[in-house]
Amino acid sequence: MELVKLTERICYLPDDPMRERPLLAHIRGERFSLAIDAGYSAEHLAIFYSALDAAGLPGPDFTALTHWHCDHSFALHAIRGCGVACARTNEQLRRVRAENAAGGYRERMMRDRFFSVEYAGDKPLVIAAADIEFERTLTLDLGGVTAELFVVDSPHTDDSVCVLVPEEGVLFLGDAIYGDYHNNAWIDPARLSRLVDTLERVEFEQCLPSHSHPHPKAATMRFLRMKLGGC
Ligand SMILES: [Zn+2]
Repeated sequence: MELVKLTERICYLPDDPMRERPLLAHIRGERFSLAIDAGYSAEHLAIFYSALDAAGLPGPDFTALTHWHCDHSFALHAIRGCGVACARTNEQLRRVRAENAAGGYRERMMRDRFFSVEYAGDKPLVIAAADIEFERTLTLDLGGVTAELFVVDSPHTDDSVCVLVPEEGVLFLGDAIYGDYHNNAWIDPARLSRLVDTLERVEFEQCLPSHSHPHPKAATMRFLRMKLGGC
């Protein structure tokens, strides 16, 4: 799979809906580079890194998680550089790491059709927390380009982080606009409403939900308000 160039300094490996793998992105600064999400497994991450290497792109020095869900975070143990996550994401990762160490976690997860493909056979399951932790917001100066990480209220999880790259007009949404995966994709209207209010105030031209393509801000806000009306 090839990288898609989104802007001068941002490219991404598209999501793979057949495997429930989210997109993995790369932001290239003059001093540091940042990846968005670690990926589902070391194999998923290796595809991303091969594509970066083939494109002659450096790093990444940092990898920011958009939330703790396995498809975004379970390759964290295999990343280059440091992992970055909000405190709630790390808390959840430590919880599932302990659950995995206690036994039975893998067996339970194997009932999920995507996880059972990702971790088929003896593929090791290594769950790690991020090295750098922040509470609500964190700004990374990558050199000529900035990444603003901020926790949002979201119907998907209580640890959803969006990443704004103001210089490029790009906002990474993670899975924040989706429903609760652990509750039949239920959308809490109050949480969605607060997310819509937050996104209205953020200045960006296009955004990337992790399991989709880039969308302009106006179309995204229209879609979210329509979704809210249907709740
Ligand atoms: Zn998710």
